[in-house]
Amino acid sequence: MEKVRIVGVDFNNISLEDAIHYSMDMLYKGEKGFIVTPNSEIVYECIKNKELCDIIGQASLVLPDGIGIIYASKIYKTPIKSKVAGIDFASKLCENLKCTHFSLFLLGAKPGIAEKAADSLKKQHSGLNICGCKDGYFFNDEDAVTAINQSGADVVFVCLGAPKQEIFIKNNLSKMSAKLLIGLGGSLDVFAGEVRRAPELFIRLGLEWFYRLIKEPKRIGRMMRLPLFLITVAKDSLKGGKS
Ligand code: UDP
Repeated sequence: MEKVRIVGVDFNNISLEDAIHYSMDMLYKGEKGFIVTPNSEIVYECIKNKELCDIIGQASLVLPDGIGIIYASKIYKTPIKSKVAGIDFASKLCENLKCTHFSLFLLGAKPGIAEKAADSLKKQHSGLNICGCKDGYFFNDEDAVTAINQSGADVVFVCLGAPKQEIFIKNNLSKMSAKLLIGLGGSLDVFAGEVRRAPELFIRLGLEWFYRLIKEPKRIGRMMRLPLFLITVAKDSLKGGKS
């Protein structure tokens, strides 16, 4: 599968539909693995956080979440086909899972949010089997692993924010009976209706980040990493992208 390297992180150059086919194929074959959806903030963090970078390198799929990654791929002159936002990937996967026997566990967000997200996902995808939920503020990973294993889940949406979710996946994948773990940041807040996604026009213009900034001005510190990220990308591409 074609990959595009962005400051040391290899992204799959894949459409949303192909990413779904690949994931469903993994499930039907019984292959164990995990999927990550890094945005430019996370890639920028990978420069300093070797552990996070290594974990992402072991993922079955690395999907480009966010317009920053698309801009970066153009700077390297190896354009990525399309953005695959984690939330879109998760919705489409639910649409496919509802027609199968595979069950889904929702892990993450504040108490009560995963249950709200489950209600909304079940309404949107009639027939979807959500076999359990747990909030993301546990003190002991074992509690989460036990809850997931007891539920018999095949797929887990791990929504603890980065890098916590990636570290959780790496430390616990081998202890889990679930086959596919997916790191999805704040997606449960969106599914639960606690956080609204940007209107379609903002998404189409690549301005989702701007909408989020207006809604949550406290994200300004995090978003300042976007220009820093693009400067790093430009420098790296001048060196031939050898990071
Ligand atoms: N979160 C969690 N446990 C923690 C820290 C965060 O479950 O210990 C959740 C938080 O409630 C939110 C999500 O992780 O639902 C992170 O959301 P954010 O918007 O920061 O993630 P992004 O989508 O930007 O990666």
